[in-house]
This record gives sequence, C-alpha cells and structure tokens, in this order.
Amino acid sequence: MTSTDRNLQLFERAKALIPGGVNSPVRAFRAVGGTPRFIQRAQGAYFWDANGQRYIDYIGSWGPMILGHGHPAVVEAVQKAVLEGFSFGAPTEREVELAEAIINLVPSIDMVRLVSSGTEAGMSAIRLARGATGRKKIIKFEGCYHGHADALLVKAGSGLATFGNPTSAGVPPEVVQHTLVLEYNNIEQLEAAFVEHGPDVACLIIEPIAGNMNFVRASVPFMKRCRELCTQHGALLAFDEVMTGFRVALGGAQSVYAQLIPGFEPDMTVMGKVIGGGMPLAAFGAKRAVMEQLAPLGGVYQAGTLSGNPVATACGLATLKEISKPGFFEQLTATTQSLVSGLTSAAAAEGMPLCGDSQGGMFGFFLFDELPQNYAKVMTTDGPRFNTLFHGLLDRGVYIAPALYEAGFVSAAHTAQDIADTVSAARQVFRTMQMA
Ligand SMILES: *Cc1c(COP(=O)(O)O)cnc(C)c1O
Repeated sequence: MTSTDRNLQLFERAKALIPGGVNSPVRAFRAVGGTPRFIQRAQGAYFWDANGQRYIDYIGSWGPMILGHGHPAVVEAVQKAVLEGFSFGAPTEREVELAEAIINLVPSIDMVRLVSSGTEAGMSAIRLARGATGRKKIIKFEGCYHGHADALLVKAGSGLATFGNPTSAGVPPEVVQHTLVLEYNNIEQLEAAFVEHGPDVACLIIEPIAGNMNFVRASVPFMKRCRELCTQHGALLAFDEVMTGFRVALGGAQSVYAQLIPGFEPDMTVMGKVIGGGMPLAAFGAKRAVMEQLAPLGGVYQAGTLSGNPVATACGLATLKEISKPGFFEQLTATTQSLVSGLTSAAAAEGMPLCGDSQGGMFGFFLFDELPQNYAKVMTTDGPRFNTLFHGLLDRGVYIAPALYEAGFVSAAHTAQDIADTVSAARQVFRTMQMA
C-alpha cells in the first residue's frame, strides 16, 4: 500500500538516511507521536507542509523569525548580499555594522564576537569566562539549555550542590565534573553553592527567562541574588539570551530585569536566533576587559571559518533594523498577550486548567492552574494530555512546539485574525479534551 501522504513518504526516506529522519531531535515528533510535517515554504505567519496543508506558525524556527517569514526588507538585503559573495574568510563592513548594532542595543556589551550557532556562542563564552577568571567551575540551572557543548550536557546529581551527571552518552563524567547544576529559582541552594565553591566559580550561566522548560521566569529576588553572589565572589554572570535576546524586548531579558532591579547588568551575554533573522548567526559579548582575553589579543582561543558570514550578517542587520522601529515591540507584545489571554479564557470557558505567561514575542502555557517556578514542576505536566492538545491544534492548522517543555513564538506577521482563529481552534480542542 502506498500512502499519498507526502510528509510520511519523506519521513520514511529521511529515516533511512538521517538518524531519526531529522537534523535536530525535537523535529522528529518523538514526544508527541505522529509524522513530522516536512515544510515546503513559508510566508508571513504561515508555513505549508509537503501535502500543501497550511499552518499558523508558533515556533518561528524556534525563535529567529520575529518578523514572520519572507519579510520584504530582509529578503532584499539577503538577495543583495548573495550577489556580492557567500563567504570570504576575511573581514567585512557588515560585521562592523552588526557589532555596532548589537552594542547599541545591549548596554552591558562593549565588544562582541560573531559565531554561527548558539551552541558555539555558549561554549565559547564559557571558555572565555574560565580563561578570564582563571577558574574551573561553572554553575547552571536544571531545565536551562545552553546548546550541546559537552560541559553543558549535564543534569543535577543527587543531593544539594553536587556536581552533575552527563545527560548524553559520549560525555565522560570527568568532562562535567566542574559543572554544578542547581534548581532554578532556588535561592537557598544558590547561596549554599557559593558558600562551598565561591572562589572556584568562573561563571554562572542562566536563561533569564527560560524558554527550554516551556516559559519560566527567574524571580526578581532570585536574579538579584545571582547578581550579588557573582559580584561578591568574582564570578561572571552570563546571560544566555540566545532565545530571549531581541525577542522579549529590544534590549533582551536583561533590559526587562534592569527595569525591576536598579542598575542591573549581566557580565556576559550569549546571543543567537533573532540576530541571524533565520540565517546561521550567533554571538557572545561582554565588557572590554573580558573580551580582550580572546584570540588574537588574548590567550583564549576561538575561531570560525564561517563566523560573521556576509549573507547571515545582512539578514541579521535587516532584521535588527526592522525590530528597532518605534512601536515594534509594543505591537508584538500586545499580539502575544492577546494570544495568551485568549487561550486562558477559552480554557476557562471549557472548565480546563490552563495558565500562561509572555514577554514581548515569547510565550508559554501550562495545563496547570499556577505558573511553575522550576523544571521539576514543569515536568509534572500530563504528557498525554499535552499531546492530545498538540495534535488537535495541528489537525486544525495551528503548529505549536511539538514538546511540552518548549516556549512558543509570535511574529509581527501574526494578525488579530490569526490569533482569533488560533483561540477558536484551541477552544474546540479543549472541549473535546474535557469530554474525553
Ligand atoms: C537555541 C538555544 C541555544 C542553542 O542555539 P543553537 O543555535 O541551536 O546552537 C542555546 N541557548 C538557548 C537559551 C537556546 O534557546
């Protein structure tokens, strides 16, 4: 029997050639089951799969597509750049322009280095933090993702403030022996960790608004304590803003915390996703004295054949220019809030527990009455119920992240009608779930 489902046909072909049929695990729909949609094209707030089925897109390539797909100014900038050359392995003016744009938007950054992926940026930032401080240990939090560098593929060990265990085969325990994994938003544990290891901590790396355990904010007292303890112990506070940077606000999550904590700044920032506008581009930045430790000025080695790629920088620059226009984030914030409030009202009308939160163009919702504060709580979500919701929405042309521990993204291309259609599809699904 041959299927007419092109997604299924492509998935079968892909599985024979690419592990799991995908080039990044979450795309395989393993958590939710079913056949991954193979995307053929996208425009604005929509993409179309290999069967020609249209979806309202709430993953936006996992964050980068903040303007929606195929924004004319971005397409034009990329087309122009392509004609000028794909890659030179020598410096270009656009790298300088992008560095200027990033530094203007993020006041905590004096200097920046461009790379090609968030993983690379996070890995390099940690090497730099270790090199600049001459210390070994790093602190991370359970549920935060900082890319797949070996030292970061780690989960909490047993007991308070113990060093972690690898979460991936192929990572020897020795490689994560200097990575301390703590519970997000747990001030007591944080303080205990600094009491025990303070003088050895090179950096504390955190997703300030965590988007890799759905959507969980660092509480203001917790963030304040992170800042105080890093300063007190001479450790660098590294914000992983690969997801939140230029997404939750023009100045990233650090600008949100700066409004809540006077004078607040991280020491290092890791960026990606939106700054490439959908092309492979990421960056890390810090104060001048730290950044000058990098090769060729300093002893911390870091390099990349395609770093600062001329086409990617054109795409990133055009994207940053659009999102810097007056009113952009106000509008995006309002659209995202209308989605979250629409979903919560629809759930309430059907008697289903659901709560949500958002900042700028990033959102999350939970099948709970109360917003969770850490990974352990997020992971108590009823998986089968989430999967029913996911497939119910997918069948109705709404594409949310195919895993309950991922945040969602709204773009400037999403219209009030798209939000209304999404909420009405969700309400239908909530009703069927409540009857089941
Ligand atoms: C996506 C992401 C990364 C990794 O970026 P890649 O470009 O996928 O390597 C790192 N940190 C955070 C917070 C992310 O969301």
